[in-house]
Amino acid sequence: MMNIPKGTKDVLPSDSYKWQYVENAAREVAQLFHLKEIRTPTFEHTELFHRGVGDTTDVVTKEMYTFKDKGDRSITLKPEGTAGAARSFIENGMGNGVLPAKMFYITPAFRYERPQAGRLREFHQFGVEIFGAKGAQTDAEAILIADALLKKLGLKVKLYINSIGCPTCRAEYNKALKAFFAPHLENLCYDCKTRYEKNPLRLLDCKEEDCQKVNANAPLMLDYLCEDCKTHFEDLKKCLQLANVEYEINPRIVRGLDYYTRTVFEFVSTSIGAQGTVCGGGRYDGLIEQLGGNPTPAVGFAAGLERLLMVMEQSGVNAPEAPKPTVYLAGMDDECRKKAFAIACALRGSGVFAEIDHMDRSVKAQFKYADKIGAKYVAVIGGNELAEGVMNVKNMANGESEKVSFDGAVAYFSNN
Ligand code: ATP
Ligand code: MG
Repeated sequence: MMNIPKGTKDVLPSDSYKWQYVENAAREVAQLFHLKEIRTPTFEHTELFHRGVGDTTDVVTKEMYTFKDKGDRSITLKPEGTAGAARSFIENGMGNGVLPAKMFYITPAFRYERPQAGRLREFHQFGVEIFGAKGAQTDAEAILIADALLKKLGLKVKLYINSIGCPTCRAEYNKALKAFFAPHLENLCYDCKTRYEKNPLRLLDCKEEDCQKVNANAPLMLDYLCEDCKTHFEDLKKCLQLANVEYEINPRIVRGLDYYTRTVFEFVSTSIGAQGTVCGGGRYDGLIEQLGGNPTPAVGFAAGLERLLMVMEQSGVNAPEAPKPTVYLAGMDDECRKKAFAIACALRGSGVFAEIDHMDRSVKAQFKYADKIGAKYVAVIGGNELAEGVMNVKNMANGESEKVSFDGAVAYFSNN
């Protein structure tokens, strides 16, 4: 017996309609906001994530799937989508084209984590990146895209926003953080000691209970914002009010990745507790430059598809079921089955959803099967029908039957 690797999941044929529903909803929302799809490779040079996600993040220090390929290159399966999109933006000179560059993706992502409900090693994200626009209105738009998708899916969520400032004001804040944490260093976890040295902001994101206790009294970035960052945050709030989107300021959100500046936000489900964060994002004005491009402001977010599906399930939101066959063609004997086969070919050629027997079942068993798969009509061809050139068509909803000629099948089922 071969088993599926830990932390991965199959999407079974019987369930894939739910995924398609969420993906289609994401694509429709993306189009409304003038986002075009970008597809980047599943793996990139490891270096991209070291520079683009950050050496002090959990993602880079603990969670990446990194290996040497046969050419001795260090390769990493993408743990998120932003770094690849940013690399592509630079490599393809999109900054010299029409700005802003608004794009979205639906991608698998890989992180070596402890698997739990809503936390997998291969998961999927719907992500949005907008490159080239610096105003808070664009931050608001990123938030509105996520909000539109969540509303379209009928999910109850809460939006939390915060600002983590810019390199200028964060330098002051980092000093304050270090001064605050210095007397507590002994009580912090091993990772936090490194964070303290390399990137104090990350201290606030620690999930260890003891560290969180200390964090509770830490100074807040919002109290250290410079004038420009303050104005930006005020402008964001104004835009969200104009859009009638409710939000709550959560001064403790710092987000998991290193490249964020100013706006950060999260949408959290109100119907589940653990792993309730369905979407996270923010502004990352430093990223493109950090990856070797010309300084380019940017904002984006990613929503976890497994989390969206989990929240849908837990809050009783059902995706519309997959389409059912319009007609099932049942044949009495071999000759009739061949006729059913030929008519099914003609029907499908005209775009009618048709199914036939593949299991050599009796007509009675074929009926049962047709009912099970939810066929709207069952068309039976027996010896008499074959001779007359007709089939006996039963409407499965009301039980009524009528005769339809072989030649008239396409017209009949195209209109029904
Ligand atoms: P968390 O704090 O839950 O670990 P994160 O900050 O690491 O989240 P991001 O890197 O911002 O998450 O990823 C964006 C979204 O992707 C998350 O809000 C979540 O919906 C989803 N996500 C992240 N990691 C996983 C995972 N291991 N399995 C499933 N979904 C995930
Ligand atoms: Mg994480």
